[in-house]
Amino acid sequence: MKPKMLSVKFLILTLLGFAMIGTLAGSIISGVVVSKNNLEKNYLIENQFYAEKLADTTNSLFSTMLKSLTLESQDSEYLHTDSTAINKELTHFLDSTTFFNSTLFVDSKGKVVASAPEVNLKGIQLNTPGAKEALIQKVPLISQPYISVTGRMILLISVPVFDDNGSYLGFLAGTIYLHEDNSLKKVLGQHPKHQNDSYVYVVDSHGDIIYHPDPIRIGENAIENKIIQKVLKGENGAQEILDTKGIPMLAAYASSANNWGIISQTPKKAILEPTIEMAKQVCLIAIPFMIFVFLMSLVMLKKIVDPIRNLSFYAQQITVDSSVPKPLIPDWYFELKELERAILIAVEFYEKKIINVESESNLDPLTGYYNRRSLEEKVNSLEMYSIILLDIDLFKTVNDQYGHQVGDEVLKYLSTLVKNETRESDMCFRMGGEEFLIVLPETDIGTANMIAERIRKKTENTISPSGKPITVSMGIGNSSETANHFSQLLHATDKALYQAKQQGRNRTVIANPIKIEN
Ligand code: GH3
Ligand code: MG
Ligand code: MG
Repeated sequence: MKPKMLSVKFLILTLLGFAMIGTLAGSIISGVVVSKNNLEKNYLIENQFYAEKLADTTNSLFSTMLKSLTLESQDSEYLHTDSTAINKELTHFLDSTTFFNSTLFVDSKGKVVASAPEVNLKGIQLNTPGAKEALIQKVPLISQPYISVTGRMILLISVPVFDDNGSYLGFLAGTIYLHEDNSLKKVLGQHPKHQNDSYVYVVDSHGDIIYHPDPIRIGENAIENKIIQKVLKGENGAQEILDTKGIPMLAAYASSANNWGIISQTPKKAILEPTIEMAKQVCLIAIPFMIFVFLMSLVMLKKIVDPIRNLSFYAQQITVDSSVPKPLIPDWYFELKELERAILIAVEFYEKKIINVESESNLDPLTGYYNRRSLEEKVNSLEMYSIILLDIDLFKTVNDQYGHQVGDEVLKYLSTLVKNETRESDMCFRMGGEEFLIVLPETDIGTANMIAERIRKKTENTISPSGKPITVSMGIGNSSETANHFSQLLHATDKALYQAKQQGRNRTVIANPIKIEN
């Protein structure tokens, strides 16, 4: 099967396309990986910072709550059992602080003396875990979350009240309604990164959730969660975990002074959006740039490929038509200039070779004279000329006596002699064997005869390669005086040569005119 041909332009553009798409894909992938790792790290750091900050804030919130209760408990109203007065005091206290959802004063038996706001708790015996603990311990306390007598899940923050003699009168308490708006929620409520679903939740020392943005989760025990176990051991940290719903989270945890755990976390999928955004940005910047590079490459490729095409077209055409113009190769194109030079050298070389072959086919190899082939063409281009037809006398005997090789030497010797006795413009032909024709342009018959005689005399007086002089016989004709058709002129001159042989050789005979045309 013939292999499919691909143009250089196509190959380079394909290569370029692959390189560019590869580079873009590479930068997006590396960008995504780097950005994902950085974002993960950043979210973990940010969440940890935020959880630690909230742990501090929660600590100070509760210590401020206890301080304000302690301060309030020193009010003299609590020494008396006037529930109306205490209720008034409680209402005033509730309004003056923003910490509690309700306040109440409970006597040493656990019976509610007064509460604010007015919720009809007066006289009710409290058996709730918070109340019991406060009554037993008689110290400032923050309870575990529990269901209050009003059916709410609450935290009870309480301080004991003693009279001037140090007798225990009961406790003063503030409550936080965990499922309703409360002071905790104000502090923990809005995660700075809440737009990407980051949130905070708080567990007490048993792992019970006391704050969560999803109210359903409040009161749930989360001790199974690994990071809750860590934070309740007093550790701070950050790590990737699966939440209770199996969703990957970038979570940080910080332990607060009362051994609560604050967890600040961001769903891992939150980093997806900025990562996609980053990839989009990369594409947005890279694609116009890639298009620009591609277009520039097209222009440059045209500059590279077009001269190659032109040169190849030239190389094809030159074999058909030698006048085809040379292609213009830009000076900067070193390799193509070299190729062009090589082509031109090859063309010139073969041109010369052809000319040589052509001219060599018109030359006689022994004497270097023209052969008969180009005779007519050369003669026809002349206006007036004479011819001398020369034949070596008794050449057969030279061959017979001295051998063919000496015969050849004699032929060469005579051709040189004749050349020396004629002019540059005269043309010598070897007509075959030992017969030569000299064409003398612009030469009348008298001059031709004179030249012939000079040759004849020189020959008879010069030693030839055979060791002896040879002699020659010649017929002489003229284009205007003998015959003006070359074939007739040659025929008449041949007759004259024959006559010279007949008359005893070593002589010149002028041909008889055949017919003169005007
Ligand atoms: P004539 O005076 O009548 O011309 O006598 P001739 O011997 O020269 O007569 P002829 O034309 O019959 O003989 C020519 C001889 O020239 C025949 C051939 O052997 C010899 N001859 C022809 N060509 C060559 C050649 O190339 N080399 C050599 N050595 N001999 C040649
Ligand atoms: Mg002959
Ligand atoms: Mg002869």
